[in-house]
Amino acid sequence: MSDNRSHDTVPLLEVTDLTIGYVTESGERVVLVDSVCLRLEAGEVLCLVGESGSGKSVTMLAVLGLLTPPLTVFSGSVKFRGRELVGADETTLRRLRGAELGMVFQDPMTSLNPVRRVGTQIERALAIHQRLDAKTRRRRVVELLAEVGIPQPEQRSRAFPHEWSGGMRQRAVIAMAMANDPAVLIADEPTTALDVTIQAQLMDVLATARARSGAGMVLITHDLGLVAQHADRVAIMYAGRVVETGTVWQVFDDATHPYTRGLQRSLLGQAGAEAKGRAYAIPGSPPAPAARPRGCGFAPRCEFPGKASECATATPVLVASNAGHAIACPPARAVTGQEAWS
Ligand code: ADP
Ligand code: MG
Repeated sequence: MSDNRSHDTVPLLEVTDLTIGYVTESGERVVLVDSVCLRLEAGEVLCLVGESGSGKSVTMLAVLGLLTPPLTVFSGSVKFRGRELVGADETTLRRLRGAELGMVFQDPMTSLNPVRRVGTQIERALAIHQRLDAKTRRRRVVELLAEVGIPQPEQRSRAFPHEWSGGMRQRAVIAMAMANDPAVLIADEPTTALDVTIQAQLMDVLATARARSGAGMVLITHDLGLVAQHADRVAIMYAGRVVETGTVWQVFDDATHPYTRGLQRSLLGQAGAEAKGRAYAIPGSPPAPAARPRGCGFAPRCEFPGKASECATATPVLVASNAGHAIACPPARAVTGQEAWS
């Protein structure tokens, strides 16, 4: 198959029925991520949203081929431009990472070596994937640092990571992730560890860098404000599964899964509720992976009036409407609009 043809018809990134977990000493399988399907088209931003522990990071580590034992992919597929990455050899994955697949993690020190100068590290990222002479490489490093808003980039590039603030370090990581013009940028809560004032600046830097290069992005965040601002499409994860997905408008304006509605109510409704003296919180907490209930993982916390006995026994699968809005909750899908909740 010609590579060019596949670019036109095949999604940039396609995750199908991805199931990830580990096997305990007693031989039991613990599933962390269950049958997850995701799709990213060229130039698009897909936001992955869900409470801590829902499997967002593990899913993306698997996409990057960065799972560490005991975690393993039990089944399913990850395709980058139609090419299977599950089971691909380490050389192939290493070639893709940092070149076609850029990554920005929550903690910049995950990506930066504390004992090497920042500029040297970005230069190295360039050297691994591109044949450039040393002078061009160094010029490119300065350009990249300038693009992410580092003042006096030439001079600063000679500093060590510890001489930089957290926000500056994360800018350097973004510069490094963009160095080779990746087709996909995976950003896992890239601003969570930073001060609120720096967060917005960093998101702008990330969005600008991405828009300039035309890269697709998977943005993991629990900040619904960021989702509204940046997402084209959204996948809501709960207890290792995608429970609702669609365009940002479908998922925000027509939130259907009781978990999505609970998230919205707890995050967006906070200001109003606090004024009345009580903020809404989804009751209970997410189950530990080894203790996930049968049927719908969310059933024990679900406040949907139309909750049915089948919720405790049958695992709901994502079913899409004509417009592509998919919901893994048969009772909520069966009713539309607000009336079911009132
Ligand atoms: P999220 O990013 O959505 O907060 P994660 O993907 O980090 O969640 O984790 C999903 C689940 O997998 C969590 O319950 C977490 O405790 C578990 N988990 C993550 N890494 C490991 C590991 N190395 N060994 C065992 N369990 C893990
Ligand atoms: Mg995470």
